[in-house]
Amino acid sequence: MAEARYRGEVVKLDRGYPLVRLEDGELLRCEHATALVKGERRRAVIGDVVEVAVPPAHDKGVIEAIAPRTREFVRKDPTERAVPQVLAANFERVIVAQPVGEVNLRRLERELVLAFETGAEVTVVLTKADLADDAATRATVEAVQALAAPAADVLVVSEDDPASVEAVRALLAPGTTTVLIGRSGVGKSSLVNMLVGAEVLSVGAVREGDGKGRHTTVSREIVEVPGAGRIVDMPGVRGLGLWDAEEGIGAAFPDVEALAAQCRFRDCTHHEEPGCAVRQAVEEGKIAASRYESYRTMYEEVKDKKDWELSQSFLIISEGNTVERS
Ligand code: GDP
Ligand code: ZN
Repeated sequence: MAEARYRGEVVKLDRGYPLVRLEDGELLRCEHATALVKGERRRAVIGDVVEVAVPPAHDKGVIEAIAPRTREFVRKDPTERAVPQVLAANFERVIVAQPVGEVNLRRLERELVLAFETGAEVTVVLTKADLADDAATRATVEAVQALAAPAADVLVVSEDDPASVEAVRALLAPGTTTVLIGRSGVGKSSLVNMLVGAEVLSVGAVREGDGKGRHTTVSREIVEVPGAGRIVDMPGVRGLGLWDAEEGIGAAFPDVEALAAQCRFRDCTHHEEPGCAVRQAVEEGKIAASRYESYRTMYEEVKDKKDWELSQSFLIISEGNTVERS
């Protein structure tokens, strides 16, 4: 019997084994062809379009090729020193979720940088509005809009307000995929369940202070929202180290970037240089010191990676290898 070949999409990852939905809708557990993971060490992620071979008498499919990606969500691999990790591919929107009563603006800045860097549409969804009073919610929305608008809209949702969930559903255009990010416990699975109108993802128990005690299964899965687009919740995204994020930083800090253009030195790091328009704005209270700190921290993080890349290309050249690195 000849080997069968299919095209499909990775809809879930379980312990490194992609679950592929074939064009006819059938789900097939797959592994990677050795040739794929060997040289370039390419691995399929959620959202990837792949070519799969099913050898006769083989219980798994073999992913032989990954189609070029329109978009990637990338962070620095938290388990390695300096390696990028792609968490999702081929999506049109990123939703950043935080509970309205516990918004962490510094984390939000970082999440926005990562989201903007993908080039997708970005929306901030503030969850669990039923747990916060209206005045506090209004103040929080304003603070969040100050960071996110106009590049990203801000929505507020609550379990007990179906209209608020409808507003999120309206963002999910049919035929598009949305990636949902946010730390564990912010209500991502609950939001997906509300959008679908059924318990498709298990919801974690309320956490007690120390952030431990959550034992729900962690798996990323693309979910079809009836009458709308698809959404994929990315649980367990703890570390949000930046990889290639210069454009994302620019998009998330338009205020700082506009000032940077007025610094005396073109390559100003806004640290100790004379004539720094950014530091002057901080001193004059036009930019919050905390915002300036986040900007600087993320800027440095990206620089580390650039230095590393430079040292890598130097290594390769000195080994007499002419392989080009992108
Ligand atoms: P995830 O880790 O981001 O997927 O968060 P979950 O969806 O598992 O939610 C964490 C906890 O928050 C669960 O106990 C949910 O029941 C609760 N939760 C989620 N959304 C809401 C909401 O709108 N209102 C309230 N009161 N609780 C919510
Ligand atoms: Zn400067």
